[in-house]
Amino acid sequence: MPIADKMVKMVESASMIRKMFEEGIRMKGIYGADNVFDFSLGNPDVPPPAVVKETLINLINNPATSHGYMPNTGYPHVRKAVADYLNKEYNVGLTPDLIVMTVGAAGALNDILRALMNPGEDILVPTPFFVGYNQYAFIASANLKTVASFPDFHLDLTAIEKAITANTRVMLINSPNNPTGVVYHKEELMKLGKILDAASQKFGKRIYMISDEPYRKIAYGVDVPCMFDVYPHTIVLTSYSKELSLAGERIGYLAIHPKAEDAAIIAGAAGVTNTMMYVNAPALFQQVVGALQGVTVDIGIYKRRRDIFCEGLHAAGYEFDVPEGAFYLFPKSPIADDFKFVKILQENKILAVPGTGFGGPGHFRLSYAVPDKTIAGSLDGFKKAFDSVK
Ligand code: PLP
Repeated sequence: MPIADKMVKMVESASMIRKMFEEGIRMKGIYGADNVFDFSLGNPDVPPPAVVKETLINLINNPATSHGYMPNTGYPHVRKAVADYLNKEYNVGLTPDLIVMTVGAAGALNDILRALMNPGEDILVPTPFFVGYNQYAFIASANLKTVASFPDFHLDLTAIEKAITANTRVMLINSPNNPTGVVYHKEELMKLGKILDAASQKFGKRIYMISDEPYRKIAYGVDVPCMFDVYPHTIVLTSYSKELSLAGERIGYLAIHPKAEDAAIIAGAAGVTNTMMYVNAPALFQQVVGALQGVTVDIGIYKRRRDIFCEGLHAAGYEFDVPEGAFYLFPKSPIADDFKFVKILQENKILAVPGTGFGGPGHFRLSYAVPDKTIAGSLDGFKKAFDSVK
């Protein structure tokens, strides 16, 4: 093998996702783009708000706009804008030195995990979970330890408590959740905070919470609890990929609670890991988002799609709870083998992702970051696929 032994498995699992993507392209070539219903990718199609383009044009036309190196954690004025915004939202006394501007949420996860994890230590994550976590844990030489959630995908706190050991360094939480769309309740999170604190005392080692929140703003009439209130030893990270539809521009940040144990050391280390991999977050888009704190895409578009899709799939017989956030559905596969059912969907020109990859076998994931007509056009095929196995 010309590549590192440890990379073989990682490359195989990455090429599985690529195969799915290529399959979509192949099918669209045969049947026409309008006749293939692709729900496989969480790539926002809702346009960024007009003010994004205006801000970008103003920045480009302004000779004072910077395109050079900066402190590796990001422009001070941008970090201040982020800290000010978070303080207005959460009132936690964040200072710019506790913010690191990053290359999306993925960059933030890479930075913080490489800063916190010793080789072989555990990152606990409830299932189902975002597939990228496998890769970020791998790069941090850490062990991703999964804990099954309840059938409604809320946290099984007893199971989490049992899974914590002296080897646990991080609890990784993602709400609103990819792939389930679940938004965890304040009560379950507060209990989780207490469990983490008690376990940290018991093992004489601080366990940190990492809250991965790229979908925070995409919630439908429910409150997404502030994770800084849940547990002070928390690092919140997010991006503008989904809330401003800027996924390709690779811009996000991480923010460390000022009361987190050793907050300043962690911020310093995350700044260094940032430098080791990407040097700094993209300069132009730091300046764009710095000026647009609190701006989001029209969330009503996603809500409308969720409602149409849920109604159509429920009518066809699929079982799932209506999710409260993000832009994914995670229905139960009508047969136990989710890979096989995804193949059956494909025969009906529908692209979905098997739940097994997310640690949720017996389910499949659908992204409704697609035009309304893709949802409407797919419903017959979903019904046919369901009826064919019943
Ligand atoms: N975390 C979750 C839960 C995601 O769904 C994604 C992307 O889909 C990421 C992190 C990575 O986000 P970004 O594109 O901002 O790096």
